Amino acid sequence: PAAGTPLPAYAAAHPPFDVNAIRRDFPILKELVHGRPLIWLDNAATTQKPQSVIDRLSYFYQHENSNIHRAAHELAARATDAYEDARKKVRHFLNAPSVDEIVFVRGTTEGINLVAQSWGRQHINEGDEIVISWLEHHANIVPWQQLCTEKGAKLRVAPVDDHGQILLDEYQKLLNSRTKLVAFSQVSNALGTITPAQQMIAMAHRVGARVLLDGAQSVSHMRVDVQQLDCDWFVFSGHKVFAPTGIGALFGKLELLNAMPPWQGGGNMIQDVTFEKTIYHAAPVRFEAGTGNIADAVGLGAAIDYVQRIGLENISRYEHQLLVYATRGLSSIPGLRLIGTAPEKAGVLSFVLKGFSSEEVGAALNREGIAVRSGHHCAQPILRRFGLETTVRPSLALYNTCADIDFLVAALRRIQSGRT
Ligand code: PLP
Repeated sequence: PAAGTPLPAYAAAHPPFDVNAIRRDFPILKELVHGRPLIWLDNAATTQKPQSVIDRLSYFYQHENSNIHRAAHELAARATDAYEDARKKVRHFLNAPSVDEIVFVRGTTEGINLVAQSWGRQHINEGDEIVISWLEHHANIVPWQQLCTEKGAKLRVAPVDDHGQILLDEYQKLLNSRTKLVAFSQVSNALGTITPAQQMIAMAHRVGARVLLDGAQSVSHMRVDVQQLDCDWFVFSGHKVFAPTGIGALFGKLELLNAMPPWQGGGNMIQDVTFEKTIYHAAPVRFEAGTGNIADAVGLGAAIDYVQRIGLENISRYEHQLLVYATRGLSSIPGLRLIGTAPEKAGVLSFVLKGFSSEEVGAALNREGIAVRSGHHCAQPILRRFGLETTVRPSLALYNTCADIDFLVAALRRIQSGRT
C-alpha cells in the first residue's frame, strides 16, 4: 500500500497472507503422528482449532461460566453477553439482516432437521415435491426423505454432469408448481463442486419454492452473503470453520422463522406456560429449547473473528492456488483418477488409485502422518453416480501448504510403487 494508507485489520495480524504465521496459530499442527509431522488434509470432515478459539473456551470456563439467564447474577450476565455477542458475529459473518434470524443449533444436520420437522411438517403435503441434488450429503437427503414418506410427498433429484456440476437444464425441468422446497449444498463435500447457488435459488423462487442452502462446506472457503444469495435458510457447522464441535447456526428469513412452529419444547423457548397453553418466544429463542451449547457458541464467535481477521477473500484466493497446485500434482500420478473436475471447485480432491482400495491408501498415508478421509463421505449417491462406493479424499484449509501437497504426492507415488 502507498505510504500512509492504513492496512486492513487482517493484514496487521497476518501481513498479506502468511501461511507460516497462520500455521503457528494452530498448535495441533506441531503434533507428530507415527513419528512424522502431522499433515492434516481431512478438513472437509472437521477443521483444526486456532489458539484463539482454544483460549476463548478456556476463558469462558474460568471467568464467565453460567447458564444464560441475564437477570440472575453477574456470571449469568457475562455468559449471556458472550453468547449473544457470538450470535451477532454469526449475523455479521453471513450478512444476515437481523440477529433474530440466527438460531444456534448443534450443526448442519440439526439445522436441516429443524427446518424439515418445523416448516416441512407444516407446509409439505401429499403430492408436493421437494427437489435436492445428486451432490447432497446424507444430512441433506435423509430428513427430506423422512418428511416425504410421512407426508406422501415426492423427492426429486437434480442430476450432475461427468465433472460433478449440477445440470441446470435438468434442474429447471424438475421445478414446477408442486415444488415446495429446494435444498442443496453450496459446496459438495465429496467432490468439492461449487454449485451456482444464487442462480439456482432464483430459479426455485420463480416457481414459488422455498430454498435451504447447506453451507457446511462453503463457510470456511468463501464469503457467504445470505442477502445476496436470497436463500430462505442457510445452515452450517462450527467445527468445519475452526470452531468447536457441537455448535452451528441456522439462518432463516425472519418472517419465515416467526411463522414456523417450535420443533422441541422445554425451557428458554417459552414466554408463558400453563397446563392449558404455552406461549412461545419469537425467533430465534423459540428454536433453542433447553440449555444450549453456550461455551462452544462463544468459541464459534472467536473462530469467526479469526477468519474475518484473515479475510475470506484472502483465504479463497490462497486455497484456489493450492487446489490448482494439488490438482496438477495428483493428476501427474499414473492410475490416479480424480472424481469431481468441475471448473468451480473448493477445497476437496476426491480420487481413486488403480490397484488399491481407498482404505488401503488411507491407511498407508496415515502411516506417514498424513490424515485424509477414505470412505463414502456420507454421500453415497454421488459416489455411485461415478460407479464407486468409496474414494480417498484429501481436503484443504487455509493452513495447508504446497509442501503438504508435495508430501502427499510423494507418498502416493511410494504406495503405488509398493515402497511403503
Ligand atoms: N452437509 C455437508 C455438505 C457436509 O459436508 C456435512 C458434514 O460433513 C454435513 C452436511 C453434516 O454436518 P454435521 O455432521 O456437522 O452436522
